[in-house]
Amino acid sequence: MYEKNCPFCSITSGNSHQILLYQDNLVTAFKDIHPITPVHILVVPNRHVESLNDIAMEDEALLGHMITVAKGLAKENRIDRSGYRLVINAGPDSGQSVFHLHLHLIGGRHMPFKFQ
Ligand code: 5GP
Ligand code: ZN
Repeated sequence: MYEKNCPFCSITSGNSHQILLYQDNLVTAFKDIHPITPVHILVVPNRHVESLNDIAMEDEALLGHMITVAKGLAKENRIDRSGYRLVINAGPDSGQSVFHLHLHLIGGRHMPFKFQ
């Protein structure tokens, strides 16, 4: 549920100074601390889930909700028409560095390379 030493658990539980862009009973959204694009927002479950590998069938609604919230934030940030990308890294080869599941919403500039 809550993992001490997890930076995103601190944020979702309100134990940090992070400004929240969105929060409901399932998910929280906030700006990435090291943005790679003009808009770089993370949407995370409030509950501590390490990665996509720990997602079960009963979490499908949660994953769908993360995407719906990201879509809403894309519109709010006026990148819904110019375009955006949603990314979930899972495991070492992907470069996942925070082991609390998160969806990256990136956009606000042209992103020429699909995968690097
Ligand atoms: P990953 O590489 O695991 O997919 O992405 C983790 C992301 O979390 C990185 O883009 C990194 O900049 C961001 N990040 C790491 N720690 C913090 C933090 O304490 N606060 C915020 N807002 N972002 C963080
Ligand atoms: Zn956590």
